[in-house]
Amino acid sequence: LSEKLSGILDKLTRRGALTEEDVNAALREVRRALIEADVALEVVRSFTDKVRSRAVGAEVVKSVTPGQMVVKIVHDTLVETLGSDADPINLDAVPPVPILMVGLQGSGKTTSTAKIARRLQDRQGRKVLMASLDTRRPAAMEQLSVLGQQVGVATLPIVAGQNAVQIARRALEAARLGGFDVVMLDTAGRTTVDEALMTEVAEVKAQTQPHEVLLVADALTGQDAVNTARAFDGRVGVTGIVLTRVDGDGRGGAALSMRAVTGKPIKLVGTGEKMDALDEFHPARIANRILGMGDIVSLVEKAAQTIDQEKAARIAEKMRKGKFDLEDMRDQLGQVEKIGGIGGLMGMMPGMAKLKDQVSAANLSGKTISRQIAIINSMTPKERRNPDLLKASRKKRIAAGSGAKVEEVNRLLKTHRQMADMMKMMGQGGKRGPLAGLAN
Ligand code: GDP
Ligand code: MG
Repeated sequence: LSEKLSGILDKLTRRGALTEEDVNAALREVRRALIEADVALEVVRSFTDKVRSRAVGAEVVKSVTPGQMVVKIVHDTLVETLGSDADPINLDAVPPVPILMVGLQGSGKTTSTAKIARRLQDRQGRKVLMASLDTRRPAAMEQLSVLGQQVGVATLPIVAGQNAVQIARRALEAARLGGFDVVMLDTAGRTTVDEALMTEVAEVKAQTQPHEVLLVADALTGQDAVNTARAFDGRVGVTGIVLTRVDGDGRGGAALSMRAVTGKPIKLVGTGEKMDALDEFHPARIANRILGMGDIVSLVEKAAQTIDQEKAARIAEKMRKGKFDLEDMRDQLGQVEKIGGIGGLMGMMPGMAKLKDQVSAANLSGKTISRQIAIINSMTPKERRNPDLLKASRKKRIAAGSGAKVEEVNRLLKTHRQMADMMKMMGQGGKRGPLAGLAN
């Protein structure tokens, strides 16, 4: 997303209203970011339509460029679609308030049941009873009792031979007699949505009249999560979503998909296997994750202040020709050093998260940059322009000259090759390079 969007930011410097062309150019890149974030295709489409209808014709405020304006509209629309505020579990009913947990097998229902019960009890002072309606796997009921003991929440005693509805009724009765505020019903799942599962869950719902029906969904299932959400919401009706395994999902697309398809709030997110790994949902955080975007406005400002336009243009020109030698790398490193490390710069660039990882793997943090510049300085101009000359003996000399190890020289050359490849790739698509695009 970065270089393209930066190029767009660069090009759209006119003032006035956003044209359809401005918006479409930016949206092409936004669409790519959404798809990369594993947002369901139908949601990508409806989302970009929504942004387009808002953005075209919007007045561009004085202090930003049209490109920044589109990005802001995208970001705001995303946050809004994800849901504005933290949406707590609704317990506003006569106790014991039943909460029904539904979802596919392995989505994290049992774990989330215990996490939520613990939170309601410890943070909100509610007396909670948990019951497992999972009659298919005897171990499932055991699992909930074990978790209950672990978090100090009561579980319904296990009685063999009852079906889900019978257990649910018994749980409600026990909760009433025991003076519980909340009774959480953990249902059985299936590996896929099937009729038997839906019938059972619908039946339990009809019999218990839960105040909340929480769909537990695994963020890692991406596109499938949408079908699951639609099936459960259509058949059973859900009141909210608990998104699990957010800890393993760097992309955040499932949250947007689930929310857009069901229109139901994401109430909580699971962030690990431990019982305290449960968080409120923060739309802005997920929006940033989806767009891979830091504070784009501050990036543009910072970069514009620092980057020497002429140098950037020269590098861009070389890049366009597919040429990027060690002198160019030294110039780039110098620029980056001024900005405060490539990590800092890339952290602010949309879509750069992945690249940032590569770069830190290549050890290109702020601290090591001056060291790398020193190594390049120890080369002859001829070597800088033609890194292929650098065989073992020359590397040894350069290492000695810059006080580095030969491995460091090798690592630098490897980084250079990666950068050169990257530059070539970028150069092929665009007229101007990524940094050049930011330098207006
Ligand atoms: P159920 O079949 O829907 O009841 O799923 P479980 O609650 O038994 O969870 C299945 C597995 O997922 C267990 O190993 C859990 O520890 C794990 N799990 C649940 N939620 C999370 C989460 O938010 N993050 C991670 N990393 N693992 C989770
Ligand atoms: Mg379970």
